[in-house]
Amino acid sequence: HIKQVNEGYFGSYSSFGIHREMLSDKVRMDAYGQAILKNPSLLNGAVVMDVGCGTGILSLFSAKAGASRVIAVEASAKMAAVASQVAKDNGLWLSKSQSGVESLQKGVIEVVHGMVEEIDKTVELQPHSVDVLLSEWMGYCLLYESMLGSVLYARDRWLKPGGAILPDTATIFVAGFGKGATSLPFWENVSDFDMSCIGNELVIDAARFPIVDVVDSQDLITSSAMLQSFDLATMKPNEVDFTATATLELKPSASGTCCCCYGIVLWFETGFTSRFCRETPALLSTSPYTPKTHWSQTILTFREPIAMGFGKENGGKLEAIGTNMYPAVKIDLRVSIVRSTEHRSVDISLEAAGV
Ligand code: SAH
Repeated sequence: HIKQVNEGYFGSYSSFGIHREMLSDKVRMDAYGQAILKNPSLLNGAVVMDVGCGTGILSLFSAKAGASRVIAVEASAKMAAVASQVAKDNGLWLSKSQSGVESLQKGVIEVVHGMVEEIDKTVELQPHSVDVLLSEWMGYCLLYESMLGSVLYARDRWLKPGGAILPDTATIFVAGFGKGATSLPFWENVSDFDMSCIGNELVIDAARFPIVDVVDSQDLITSSAMLQSFDLATMKPNEVDFTATATLELKPSASGTCCCCYGIVLWFETGFTSRFCRETPALLSTSPYTPKTHWSQTILTFREPIAMGFGKENGGKLEAIGTNMYPAVKIDLRVSIVRSTEHRSVDISLEAAGV
């Protein structure tokens, strides 16, 4: 069964639409471009492994940055063939030779078809001989699709002790959203008619599944909090699954009134920190407060909204839909994200209490 799931997963990457979406994501491209191209002391002359090379873009950046050898590993047969062709079509990179004269550097990139867990026999490479391990492994709310385990496997098998991993940090953040981020305002007034019964039904439905969508930062009514942070250089493979707690407080701007928190938004950042990117560190953020990316945000709706505020009432009464009797000043959260064993998905559990 797992084999079938994998075939479906890698098959989905054979369609070019998803690659176009990733390659058009300016925030993503700028962060990886900066980390790889603007840290010459890290990349120049380095042996690089690109885990899940797709079209090969990160390998091309590495070759351009002066890597001496780039091993581009890709499980999808179609994408491995495409990446080889692209590398050949762009196979001549200007590089400075030792004498300082610009010369043409050929054939730096070698594409290896296979899962990174299974390439031992297909690649001529000593274990622990890679200087820089690169990957764009992040899924929705960071862990959907669970490619992080493969990157950690590659780290433990192929990276030199003390070698660099890019990105080297990953952090999940959380904040609470108000009515504006739900479909309620739309249905409350449709050409001056009240269709809020539809909105109410949709909010109840939304509590059954996470939704991936862009959230306007103005609709966040609480502070943001860090939920979980990973150090890719040191974490153990079994630390990918986690349970964490966080506390959300009303934003100062919202604290004079009562309002309802309908659920939480999750997003992530990955860091290319000065630990390895000494010349030019970079940050890839998928926050609602920064320019949007193809990851959008992940929205988890509460089964019942939580009324929040500091006693001053909103127009004389609490928003009618809040189910707690007294408005809460903060929300205590417990969130766990665990890889599901049979699919490349995650199981998310969420508990929230207004206090
Ligand atoms: N590096 C490319 C593609 C990122 S998408 C870019 O930045 O644009 C992730 C890619 O990793 C997909 O092409 C997928 O097929 C591949 N992949 C996922 N898990 C893998 C594994 N275990 N071994 C090899 N490739 C994998």
